[in-house]
Amino acid sequence: MQKSHYVGRFAPSPSGDLHFGSLIAALGSYLQARARCGQWLVRIEDIDPPREVAGAASRILSALEHYGLFWDGQVIYQSQRHDAYRAALDLLQQQGLCYYCTCPRSRIQHIGGLYDGHCRDLHFGPQGAAIRLRQFAPVYAFHDGLQGELRTDPALASEDFIIRRRDGLFAYNLVVVIDDHFQGVTEIVRGADLIAPTVRQIALYHQLQLPVPSYLHLPLALGANGIKLSKQNHAPALPGGDPRPVLVAALKFLCQPLPESWQDLDLSLLLSWAVAHWKRENVPSQDAIALVKNTSAFSKELG
Ligand code: GLU
Ligand code: ZN
Repeated sequence: MQKSHYVGRFAPSPSGDLHFGSLIAALGSYLQARARCGQWLVRIEDIDPPREVAGAASRILSALEHYGLFWDGQVIYQSQRHDAYRAALDLLQQQGLCYYCTCPRSRIQHIGGLYDGHCRDLHFGPQGAAIRLRQFAPVYAFHDGLQGELRTDPALASEDFIIRRRDGLFAYNLVVVIDDHFQGVTEIVRGADLIAPTVRQIALYHQLQLPVPSYLHLPLALGANGIKLSKQNHAPALPGGDPRPVLVAALKFLCQPLPESWQDLDLSLLLSWAVAHWKRENVPSQDAIALVKNTSAFSKELG
């Protein structure tokens, strides 16, 4: 059999432990890749030291292993990739595609929160400046493998967004593009919270003259309060113990079929059953956001 060219990935930030919402993204991208006999890669997005939680990266990897989600090849750490990011920035700068901006946040807030291109032709130097990408040809819409055609607010799409922050840190939109290309990712499966920046990432692929991958954004898991489970709002870390009930809850969330008596299957059999029966078309797409009452949805099953 010919080897599949599909390459998927899961790219967590080590700003906290994995929670049920991140398990959905991990499991969804894993099943989509494995069902296509593709590779599934893991990348630790540790580009933002101030937001990093000590030990989170290794706890994330242990949690993936605990849930039977084994990745291919070596884990990539963005903290080790600065040379590649700098090279990409140099290229954009040489082509006149970006510029230094010294506008304080207060100025941008004052004009309504979206940047107006104020520093475009002021030729500032790097001192105390962020680097913004000149949007010559903004991207306003893209095709999503689950949600279909998605349009973004044109004002948001055409903003000259930041690719290197004033504090010298590289911005997520830049590094995610460089690394997904570097790792040969063919389809990006992730949470619907990342729909908004996707048009910016596609614009960057265009400016760097790189092939654009496919995208598929999974519904988000919300807490009982209707707010997305996230590290910022202290979603509980995935429980230890038997991983299977939690995986079953995640499969239910993605509206996937379940084996008749999953209690009789061990973890690896349960996962290979899920791969063999993965139905991308079952994943809820009407609403980008789906609701689970709270994480006790699975703690009940654990109890
Ligand atoms: N590192 C990002 C996060 O944890 C995800 C990036 C991506 O999947 O593009 O939210
Ligand atoms: Zn400016």
